[in-house]
Amino acid sequence: MITSKHFSEKEFKSCSPSCSLQDMKQSTMNRLDTLRELAGIPIVINSAYRSSAHDKSKGRSGTGAHTLGQAVDIRCNTSETRFKVVQAAIAAGFSRIGIDKAFVHVDDSSQHAQCVMWLY
Ligand SMILES: [Zn+2]
Repeated sequence: MITSKHFSEKEFKSCSPSCSLQDMKQSTMNRLDTLRELAGIPIVINSAYRSSAHDKSKGRSGTGAHTLGQAVDIRCNTSETRFKVVQAAIAAGFSRIGIDKAFVHVDDSSQHAQCVMWLY
């Protein structure tokens, strides 16, 4: 059973698309809990686990880190929260970060390029 100190099943249910904490990898959740503690601010998850079929239907590869249960998109609407989330993500050991105007993607997939930060 996948557990988290800071993130409840309810938060995954309200993700887009809706998913379960049980779809996530425990090691990723441990990192996300560390990120939450280091950032010291409320963390809202927009998107977490996504099935390969869902991502393909949206024109994505279907092999991204979200399909592995190793990625989350964290809502970030201000430069201050974006900075705190990125700083905490790097300190927590996330080596793959994507920056959007409205969210920060973090994942710890070892199957994808490491130490990368991209823009959407
Ligand atoms: Zn993402």
